Amino acid sequence: MHELSLSNGMLEIIEKRAVEDGFGRVLAVRLEVGVLSCVERAALSFCFESVTRGTVAEGARLEILDVAGEAWCWDCEAVVPLTRRGEACEGCGGYRMKLRDGEQIRIKELEVA
Ligand SMILES: [Zn+2]
Repeated sequence: MHELSLSNGMLEIIEKRAVEDGFGRVLAVRLEVGVLSCVERAALSFCFESVTRGTVAEGARLEILDVAGEAWCWDCEAVVPLTRRGEACEGCGGYRMKLRDGEQIRIKELEVA
């Protein structure tokens, strides 16, 4: 279960930003989550809600934005979409691929008051 440490990491970033930008409350957090990142969304929402209790982000809406997976296929010499880990290239059916995108977890935007 890494959703708890993820939530703590997010809170750290938010609190740091609250000091720097001088806002007192977070209304919503828009989070980019790659489809290959193995994050359990329900667990993440639950953990986020509990770690933010009593902080600037208490009660903030967590909006999770899916980011598609992408890999470079050495055989097709092209970027191909990837919907899950270990999947074959949709162009050639091969596995000689290098992951390019879809693993990230990143705060894209904060809606603050
Ligand atoms: Zn291919």
